[in-house]
Amino acid sequence: MKFYKDHYDVIVIGGALAGLSSALMLADKGLDVLVLERHNLPGGIATSFVRGGIEIEAALHEMMSIGPEDNRLKVGRFFDDMGVNIEWLPVPECYHASLPGLEVTLHPGLERFSREIDNVVPGTYDKVLKLLKLCDTVFNSVNELSIHPMSKPQMLLKHEAFVKTAGYSTKEVLDTFHLPQKALDLLAPYWIYVGSGFSDLPFTIYAVLMADYVGYGSMIPKKLSHEMSLKMAERAEEMGVQIEYRQHVDKILVKNGRAYGVRTARGDEIHADYVISSAYPNKVYTSMIEPLSEVPEEATKMVNGRRLSLTAFSVILILDKPAEELNIKDYSIFRGDTMDTDALYDNLAGLGPYRYLTCICHNYGNPGVTPEGTCSFSVTVLPRVDGWKTVKAEDYDRVKHEVAKQLIDDMSEYFGVNLLDHVLECVIETPMTIAHYTGAWNGCIYGYAHTMEDHIIARLQTAEAERFIEGLEFAGAHAISGDGMGPAVTNGRKAAKNILDDIAARKEAKR
Ligand SMILES: Cc1cc2nc3c(=O)[nH]c(=O)nc-3n(C[C@H](O)[C@H](O)[C@H](O)COP(=O)(O)OP(=O)(O)OC[C@H]3O[C@@H](n4cnc5c(N)ncnc54)[C@H](O)[C@@H]3O)c2cc1C
Repeated sequence: MKFYKDHYDVIVIGGALAGLSSALMLADKGLDVLVLERHNLPGGIATSFVRGGIEIEAALHEMMSIGPEDNRLKVGRFFDDMGVNIEWLPVPECYHASLPGLEVTLHPGLERFSREIDNVVPGTYDKVLKLLKLCDTVFNSVNELSIHPMSKPQMLLKHEAFVKTAGYSTKEVLDTFHLPQKALDLLAPYWIYVGSGFSDLPFTIYAVLMADYVGYGSMIPKKLSHEMSLKMAERAEEMGVQIEYRQHVDKILVKNGRAYGVRTARGDEIHADYVISSAYPNKVYTSMIEPLSEVPEEATKMVNGRRLSLTAFSVILILDKPAEELNIKDYSIFRGDTMDTDALYDNLAGLGPYRYLTCICHNYGNPGVTPEGTCSFSVTVLPRVDGWKTVKAEDYDRVKHEVAKQLIDDMSEYFGVNLLDHVLECVIETPMTIAHYTGAWNGCIYGYAHTMEDHIIARLQTAEAERFIEGLEFAGAHAISGDGMGPAVTNGRKAAKNILDDIAARKEAKR
């Protein structure tokens, strides 16, 4: 039997980046917090494992919103403020774009990035810089508004660029710059990190992505992504958080519209004033709420109405030569046969051949990551869940190996080196692996897609109405900000803030 107290202020389901961020913030404010994680270690998708004596990164390509030590962005600042000391390494470039007629490496810094595009597409410097500065202005507005909400007239006065571009798609705003197609192509590769084609991607999301990654550069933890959750868990425990591993939460207990605890798969019933779930709303509203009659119809409609974002298929290789000897020259390569993001998005609905690949050679950002004379190289596609949902159990191995072969063959051809001749270790991660390991709905890694109908601004406006069960918050890639590890941290903090605000409001009402 585990030891549980009779009652906690908050129970957090899931000890990955989002859940641990909630726990840290709540413990910092003196709340009594229990984290229940079904695995034997923290981290969820942000993890690593050892093969052939080499530690292999399971997910992280690059972290946004960290910023350099003297100019931290919100996620980096949060870690620092919470005393979570991570050794960050800067990623040396934004990306190498390998696109039809283009082989270009671009580096962080708005001016430098614009200059490098101008070197390839002369005469575009001013326009590209203007676009990136617009992105930066919108980014600053989003950051400020997420802390200090304000009325629409005030917003218009203070955040004009944000308000003026907010209703437009990325394509619509980019079109107003009248840039040559090649320059537009070089401004598009990060699209995959937000997972919607530019016709359906709100410009605000593109702006935040570009300003953060291009303006400040990205970072990686020296000891791989698992360093984040290990240090967060260690710090949370120092702050009094109880973390219990190997504890699968089966049910969230609800009475009269209010969550009051959870039941684990082992049958422990644990009570709390609030519950934060890292499990997807789809899972929670269809099978975790007990009794299910407490799930309002609107909640089911909401999860059915939202479009799931992308999942991941990744081939991770440890190779028997240093990267340069295999013609691998960059940390990050985006390779596509077009940069028409709408067409690429359609291509992601199937099971391949995939037209847009994302490759990482960690050694260029973290030289000691593999033993001398070897390197780590991964090829990833981020498909939509649609195609992978249809794969039958009997076809899984075949499909998995066909897709992996396509990715390895494509990159072997590109480097002019048969990568298969150099493999020391090979790991294939599929949407099923992710779903199985983290419980993420359909293996989705980015939560719900940002679209013109459903995006962060709309979600902020409907957030209150979407609190279908009192005392139940969601933290994870599936919450408001969506997309990746940095946003998972932000979502975890937001869930904690909602609880702190609710506690304050209740205290105020009692006075
Ligand atoms: C190949 C790949 C590459 C990626 N690259 C990047 C990148 O470069 N940059 C980036 O920002 N993001 C990247 N991502 C996405 C990123 O990893 C995720 O968006 C993020 O880690 C999600 O964090 P989370 O805390 O929301 O959820 P998860 O990591 O899914 O964690 C959920 C946690 O909750 C636990 N849990 C779930 N249900 C229960 C339950 N019922 N009871 C108890 N515990 C439960 C799970 O075990 C897990 O620990 C990548 C993902 C993949 C797969």
